[in-house]
Amino acid sequence: MRAFHAGCVFALTVVSAAGAPTPPPRPAEVTAPALAPPMPPPRPADLSPSNPPPELAPTPMPAPLAEHPEDPATCDSLLASGTVEARRVAPIMGPNGCGIAAPLSLDAVILADKRRIPIEPHPVLRCDFATEAAGWIAGDLIPSLEAKAGRVVRLAGVGGYECRKRNRQSGGQLSEHARGNAIDLTSAQFADGHVFLLASRANDLDLASHLRASACRRFSTVLGPGADPEHESHVHLDLEPRRDGNKICEWELR
Ligand SMILES: [Zn+2]
Repeated sequence: MRAFHAGCVFALTVVSAAGAPTPPPRPAEVTAPALAPPMPPPRPADLSPSNPPPELAPTPMPAPLAEHPEDPATCDSLLASGTVEARRVAPIMGPNGCGIAAPLSLDAVILADKRRIPIEPHPVLRCDFATEAAGWIAGDLIPSLEAKAGRVVRLAGVGGYECRKRNRQSGGQLSEHARGNAIDLTSAQFADGHVFLLASRANDLDLASHLRASACRRFSTVLGPGADPEHESHVHLDLEPRRDGNKICEWELR
């Protein structure tokens, strides 16, 4: 299964989310979901970053949006939920299929007791994924950590949108990060200053087992230590849709 890993590390070598956002043709993107099949065919190997004349471009949005359409209603729901501190940012149309039509910067989650937990750096994500990521962070990760080890004050070493191929290869498929459909989590800091490293093999086994199980229930891809060398330092979560519905759950605890 390792050939299918969606890799992720933090070295910033590629186009940033702030790249050259351009307002997308929203109506086409909004109507796409009803027409799109639930599981798309394999992606084209390469998509031209040029801008063809509109009359020659039946789907001018980046390929991932047609394959895995975004629903702007999920942005409204998340922003109105009171469970996050998030900001809409300009649509991202990167090269080669990278992009997010309706991105959010997920700045913090708000816990049930109204405490605000900053997420740093703030990841830029598509809204349905941001909803799931925030749900796991606030509903599983932080309560589990706090039950074992005290009050969490922030998450750090977080990655979101990034326009690149999987495992930073020059070829192959796009990373789910290139669609804002993935997050990388490295550490949580507690009020007393100590830091919990998610990918550490020295973590409490019950705690780590619970985190892995809850992540693998919610997400379609979970990659941590043992998955490959790129995931020894952090845990990658994404919601890549797969035709067979299979999940990848690779996170060694010891
Ligand atoms: Zn990743």
